[in-house]
Amino acid sequence: MTSYKGQCHCGNTAWEAKLEADQQGHILCHCDTCKSLSGSTFTLNQIIPKAALTITKGEAGLGKYTYYGESGKGVHCFFCKNCTSHVYHHQEVMGPDTIVLRTGLLTEGIKSFEPKAEIFGKARLGWEKEVATTFETLPPS
Ligand SMILES: [Zn+2]
Ligand SMILES: [Zn+2]
Repeated sequence: MTSYKGQCHCGNTAWEAKLEADQQGHILCHCDTCKSLSGSTFTLNQIIPKAALTITKGEAGLGKYTYYGESGKGVHCFFCKNCTSHVYHHQEVMGPDTIVLRTGLLTEGIKSFEPKAEIFGKARLGWEKEVATTFETLPPS
């Protein structure tokens, strides 16, 4: 287990995530919601226990945006209210103790992690090359 620090763009919010060896990598998500929320072609994520994430600075400054996924269940996106960086998402469909961490905001992780999988590959843009095992939507559970 290794501890990784992260912070939002403006620095108002900072956090620490304790990641197991098999969590030290990026899961690329190509879904249309990620495109829309990031203004880019995919996001970098990892699924971790909620208890593995500690907001060390500015928790009160986090905003929450909720949308409803295909399952009809809520997806709560926690972001810095000042600069709008998304820290993590909580998908109700995953249960109360699991969150989706944005690995692209980990100071060391963004540089050292490798792509481990790609999800929602069906929405990958035509000019993007495959860089890891790709699932059409989600991996079979
Ligand atoms: Zn910020
Ligand atoms: Zn996505």
